Amino acid sequence: MRKIREIHRAGEHHWVGDGFPVRSIFSYDGLGRELSPFLLLDHAGPAKFAPTDHQRGVGEHPHRGFETVTIVYEGELEHRDSAGNGGRIGPGDVQWMTAASGILHEEYHSPDFARSGGTMEMAQLWVNLPARSKMAPPGYQTLLHRDIPAVKLDADAGVLRVVAGDYQQHHGPARTFTPINVWDLRLNAGGSVVLPLPDGHTAALVVLQGIVRVNDAENANVDEVVVFEQGNGEVGVATEAGAKVLLLSGEPLNEPIVGHGPFVMNTTEEIRQAFVDFQRGRLGRPAA
Ligand code: MN
Repeated sequence: MRKIREIHRAGEHHWVGDGFPVRSIFSYDGLGRELSPFLLLDHAGPAKFAPTDHQRGVGEHPHRGFETVTIVYEGELEHRDSAGNGGRIGPGDVQWMTAASGILHEEYHSPDFARSGGTMEMAQLWVNLPARSKMAPPGYQTLLHRDIPAVKLDADAGVLRVVAGDYQQHHGPARTFTPINVWDLRLNAGGSVVLPLPDGHTAALVVLQGIVRVNDAENANVDEVVVFEQGNGEVGVATEAGAKVLLLSGEPLNEPIVGHGPFVMNTTEEIRQAFVDFQRGRLGRPAA
């Protein structure tokens, strides 16, 4: 079994714009090296919103140097960016946005969801780019629920969706810059599974709902992340009452991480440059 390094608990709730009540489950501030290439994971909701004419969300802001991966569990989001991409994603859909050299975007509840109200739940993962790709052109992938392989686990343990990477012979639809796995896992009550991971990958198990027992050794609760030692070995996950988790693994970049707000680069000079470029409109012009 892969050794558990630590179990890290999310910080307090905060609002991102007026649309997303979020807990940051991990960030590169404390776990940058241990979880490379993963930088950050925010869990928004589940939270109930009353019907409204006002579209809640977060207004236009820039990013550079990494990718944002938004997984919707409940509710519906709408996105627009300065590269001309946009779209609507609902339960089970994933938006994989490559900011790379720079982008401006906005993230809102969809007009239909705002009008009807309801429960919103999503996770947003930031995936770092290697230095050689940080200034690549921006990109955008909409990964619809129906295009994400859903693998039934043995003994009715639950379902594993392969968003990125490979599980057994199933290949996730996301195009990634470096080898990573993003598995969206639902375990039924009493379910248990042993997950093989590539040798040398960093690995983390994020609990979004329920309580899981990891490696038959330690329990992890909702909004906690189990950080594993780099190296080899599989990960065991079990639950008594059912659980929703994300399993992340990736080839570590082993490069310096220097971030400020919406920019994550390798040096302070590159961060300074990102602010200059943003102010001069080089990260893109507002979406029409
Ligand atoms: Mn953003």
